Amino acid sequence: MLEDKDQSRTSLGELGEFGLIEHLTKNFAVRQDTTVLGVGDDAAILEFSKDQVVISTDLLVEGVHFDLSYVPLKHLGYKAVMVNLSDIYAMNAIASQVTVSIAVSNRFPLEALEDLYEGINAACKNYKVDLVGGDTTSSNVGLVISITAIGHAAKEDIVHRSGAKENDLLVVSGDLGAAYMGLQVLEREKAVFKANPNNQPDLEQYSYIVERQLKPEARKDVVELLKALEVVPTAMIDISDGLSSEVLHICKNSKVGCHVYEDKIPLDPQVINVCEEFTIDSTTIALSGGEDYELLFSITQKDYPKIKGNPNFTVIGHILPEGDGKHLITRANTTIPLISRGWNALEGS
Ligand code: ADP
Ligand code: MG
Repeated sequence: MLEDKDQSRTSLGELGEFGLIEHLTKNFAVRQDTTVLGVGDDAAILEFSKDQVVISTDLLVEGVHFDLSYVPLKHLGYKAVMVNLSDIYAMNAIASQVTVSIAVSNRFPLEALEDLYEGINAACKNYKVDLVGGDTTSSNVGLVISITAIGHAAKEDIVHRSGAKENDLLVVSGDLGAAYMGLQVLEREKAVFKANPNNQPDLEQYSYIVERQLKPEARKDVVELLKALEVVPTAMIDISDGLSSEVLHICKNSKVGCHVYEDKIPLDPQVINVCEEFTIDSTTIALSGGEDYELLFSITQKDYPKIKGNPNFTVIGHILPEGDGKHLITRANTTIPLISRGWNALEGS
């Protein structure tokens, strides 16, 4: 489906490891004053004054987390950074640096890694984070990318998963399920393309959901907005595995129960349409589809007026005592237990 760019293929061996690292990192600017020394020495040096430092790592493996037959490398680089920044924002902190480690087989030409780093650089620019290091090695199983994100926040601003209290409201940013449905469309088009390579996909009507899958944006804006509104959530988590799984994480860590209302779950109209086309229940997709990278958080009732009517936020439920359990209240007003299926479990259903 992806057109192979008609360009030269330079073998990675031609540059050598040091030449390669220098080539890939030379266009990265340093933007943060917390970065004292970036790429080029044995280690990077960072300096944070009073803030606490927040660190998170993710590992992405070709064939497990991404499929290069429909994911352009540039998008992959961008998304790999987003996945990590999202974890920093989920602590209500601001991301400032990343390290990027790659294991790559020699089937990749230099130009492919240039595309990957172009995506990483675009993410660094948009989110004002510095690339300060990494590691490069060879692989005989395909591409592996590991990113570590570093951020910081004042101690009193940092939000854990464990702080939700009885009567708090459960709130989500944005809308849910789009990334998973985007993946379904891409998988379908890949199968169509395999059967007939002349069949070029028309993804126009799926643009929002495909973009949510290929080019997600981490919600730095939500962290900034909460600060501006003077709301410190009592608990927060990013939605990488589906709403129900993340709600259950907050409840487990906070030792509370909850009600989530089906009719409050925010869905984009394109998600509703595509769910109809695929005859899948849109609530199931929002609850168990993955990779939305929205933020789920709890707030005290007294903060409700500060977020009320804000188009970025939807109140989807509230926190109950632990003994009341964790339930979904359906449109038909029945009460069913929230279960975590995880989005991998949806494959083939
Ligand atoms: P070492 O032998 O100590 O591991 P390297 O030669 O791997 O050192 O790295 C040299 C410098 O380049 C270091 O600053 C390291 O953090 C950085 N670096 C190595 N690989 C990457 C990469 N894939 N992306 C960004 N920086 C990298
Ligand atoms: Mg190294």
